[in-house]
Amino acid sequence: MQSKKSKPIVVPGDKLATIEEFVPGSGTASVGEAIVSTVVGDAEPDMANRVMNVKPAHSADDALPKIDDYIIGRVDSAQPSMAQVTIIAIGDKVSDKELSGMLSLRDDRRRRSSPIRSGDTIRAKIISTKNSIYHLAMDDTMTGIVKTVCSNCGGDVIALGTDRVKCKECGFVDERMLAEDFIKYSRNQKNP
Ligand SMILES: [Zn+2]
Repeated sequence: MQSKKSKPIVVPGDKLATIEEFVPGSGTASVGEAIVSTVVGDAEPDMANRVMNVKPAHSADDALPKIDDYIIGRVDSAQPSMAQVTIIAIGDKVSDKELSGMLSLRDDRRRRSSPIRSGDTIRAKIISTKNSIYHLAMDDTMTGIVKTVCSNCGGDVIALGTDRVKCKECGFVDERMLAEDFIKYSRNQKNP
């Protein structure tokens, strides 16, 4: 199943706007000064009424991931060549089964640090379900990080090229394996 390539999917906790810009609508909530998503879906700001809505992705069903499915997952722990991931959506369908996936990263170059971090949200592809383990890979441009924050200060980051991010708050530059849509979305953001 192919994910839509349009807007980046938002996941619970994603900051969408500030309460000065919008009021929270369906699928969102205010947390401090921020409006965040409470669901997996597409952000649909109502510009006329200044209301931020998130249209939920198709509702959860009983489908299990199959080989070649794209999944959205949250990184629970990460090492330079592998990571433990909780699958939160299969294709564009939310999964509430809390399935675990095992992401293997190609170890074909010496990295200074892990290219993904605990807490990141990623898109990955199911490459095997051997021994009832969901084996994941990030080998094409659809896959990679779709949401991450600065590992120095927790601030918002923008893409630098395809494999690094720069913090909008503190300027810290760090390695990340980024998905194509994150990079595109990032280009529309202001460079600090
Ligand atoms: Zn920072």
